[in-house]
Amino acid sequence: MLQKAKEYLQSYFGYSSFRSGQEDAISSVLNGEDVLCVMPTGGGKSICYQIPALVLEGTTIVISPLISLMKDQVDALLQAGIAATYINSSISISEANERIRDAMEGRYKLLYIAPERLESSDFIRSLEKMEIPLIAVDEAHCISQWGHDFRPSYLHIQRMIDRLPQKPQVMALTATATPMVRKDITQTLHINEENTIMTGFERENLSFHVIKGQDRYAYLKNYVKKNTEEAGIIYAATRKTVDQLYEKLRKENIKVGRYHAGMGDKDRMLEQEKFLQDQTTVMVATSAFGMGIDKSNIRYVVHFQLPKNMESYYQEAGRAGRDGLDSDCTVLYSPQDVQVQRFLIDQSADRSRIATELEKLQAMIDYCHTELCLQGHILEYFGEEEIKPCGRCGNCMDSRSSIDVTKEAQMVLSCIIRMGQRFGKNAVAQVLTGSKNKKILDLKFDQLPTYGILKEKSVKEISEFIEFLISQECIGVEHGSFPTIFVSPAGKEVLLGNREVYRKEIVQAKPAISANDPLFDELRKIRKIIAENEKVPPFVIFSDTSLKDMCVKLPHNEEEFLQVSGVGEHKLQKYGGEFINKIIEFCRQHPERLEEKQQTPAANQPKKPAKKAEKNSHYITLELFNDGLTVGEIAKKRELSTNTIENHLIHCADEGMEVDFSEVLPQTIIPLIEKAVEEAGREKLKPIKELLPKEISYFMIKVYLQNSKIGVKTE
Ligand code: ADP
Ligand code: ZN
Repeated sequence: MLQKAKEYLQSYFGYSSFRSGQEDAISSVLNGEDVLCVMPTGGGKSICYQIPALVLEGTTIVISPLISLMKDQVDALLQAGIAATYINSSISISEANERIRDAMEGRYKLLYIAPERLESSDFIRSLEKMEIPLIAVDEAHCISQWGHDFRPSYLHIQRMIDRLPQKPQVMALTATATPMVRKDITQTLHINEENTIMTGFERENLSFHVIKGQDRYAYLKNYVKKNTEEAGIIYAATRKTVDQLYEKLRKENIKVGRYHAGMGDKDRMLEQEKFLQDQTTVMVATSAFGMGIDKSNIRYVVHFQLPKNMESYYQEAGRAGRDGLDSDCTVLYSPQDVQVQRFLIDQSADRSRIATELEKLQAMIDYCHTELCLQGHILEYFGEEEIKPCGRCGNCMDSRSSIDVTKEAQMVLSCIIRMGQRFGKNAVAQVLTGSKNKKILDLKFDQLPTYGILKEKSVKEISEFIEFLISQECIGVEHGSFPTIFVSPAGKEVLLGNREVYRKEIVQAKPAISANDPLFDELRKIRKIIAENEKVPPFVIFSDTSLKDMCVKLPHNEEEFLQVSGVGEHKLQKYGGEFINKIIEFCRQHPERLEEKQQTPAANQPKKPAKKAEKNSHYITLELFNDGLTVGEIAKKRELSTNTIENHLIHCADEGMEVDFSEVLPQTIIPLIEKAVEEAGREKLKPIKELLPKEISYFMIKVYLQNSKIGVKTE
């Protein structure tokens, strides 16, 4: 039967292999066992029950609390040529009755229902008359009072199962991994605890970042503008901030939507729909948005303000990159947010949870301050063991050196004190830059010795520097009708010369997430037109992964088109022609494209996920490096940062490839680094760097560590 499952994976879904966990889950079910499947968001849970539904006789029932998701899932199944439907409160009674009649005649392979249906005895009686091999309980944590989303109607599930004449198998699915919740699920649904299938929680295509001490709005605007064609979500903590950001981005001509609980149902639905259809690219929202959003091509999630805990953060950030393509998750941290979150917690109705919530908030704050791997930090929080640095996150990629800014800090702090610690950061910045603002002159601040001592800088730069000093807790913020700043105890230490302040070089806004490809844009246009005609979201027609794979494989006929990841028989018949024609036309206009393809062996190989093809970037770097180009030259040629190029080379060496580092790391330097490593340990780069002369770069240290790990060339 597993053979059949594999065939269906290819012919209906167009995927050549199962992901980790999927095969285990499916073979357990096909062997007659009940299972609990715990996989992160985007891990591919749906296929775990959709394939058995195809293999087994009868109609599989899928219970899901997310009404909007149901429609998308059913649309996606219909697009793949699989008979499916759903019954929930969004359809009329007569429509529901018709679907039930059809279901009783066995016309569907899958029937999605909302849990509330199970409260109706009429409905249960209809189920009794159907052939039901499998019940899939999606979002199974809703069954647990310990979960973050308890739904009483989930408690009806087991009762319904008990009433069915032939006991179906049960598969529960969730992305919540805490032991307490898992136990609740297996107990309530009578699943043997040993039949729990858990995959690692690492999301290999996500790179996490925390941005501190920057003008958040400026950063965000820049970031969004660099990625205008990509879909993204920006989360803010309050409705007010959502509205403000929405207005600001709209004025920048960005295709932006918004979503929060203060809007009417209709408006919210409309905004959501536009986002799903790729009519708006950016959604600014509170955490009310996202539950039940299955959009797979979200390229970034930015938290404009601090999330309230790690659980919500990973869930919200995890909405990026469900299609497996590289995506970004960023928190824009500012210390004021801690105040906002504390306030929100204080307002919450359930007094007994306040202490726990504050603790969870602290864990979130710690995440923002760690200098270690961010993905690793998250996994550790969720109880995973044996964690390796991800090599992709802001911290793993950060080899900027810190510069001593103690003197500037002292100037700012002293200015704050001289102004009486009663003003906001802008007024302080104006005094330091020597502004002729009337208010400043009226207050006679132009007579202060700190007036104009930083006049070579702009007010904005100084404001950012003050933000940075706030993040370093050298400056405190007093929240009143308008916030004023004061010198904290740590700040006083700086003024006294007992403490130094270091700042990483200013961060440039990250470059665009993915490079532009005109063919990709063309294919995206076709997809959008088809989606509009079919009245489904574009990602239901083809995921971004599939379009990218088309751009690599450039299929010119049906056989080649079938090789594209995500293309099954049904989609080939329906849409193959249009896409193939476009690709042929494009290649005629851009003959160099086909030549490139012939030179990259990967494009001609049998089917491979598109992600793999993309990831080969580090091999390209290695080739150039072996051709004798320096890191700087490669960076320039490939329009990537030197940092990325360096990481590529380390990555290649990690994979066991020959990389000749002798130019990068001369023999004479090795003993120096060796000594520093002995003293500072191998865990962190920074302490090692600090023991060494300036000329020895982070890259050299990384190369040393890499080499000494596998024990070559360092002796
Ligand atoms: P989850 O429900 O766990 O969040 P989904 O079931 O929505 O995840 O799957 C996430 C994405 O991964 C979807 O776009 C899906 O088509 C894709 N996917 C699932 N299984 C595979 C596979 N074996 N190979 C390639 N892509 C897959
Ligand atoms: Zn990392």
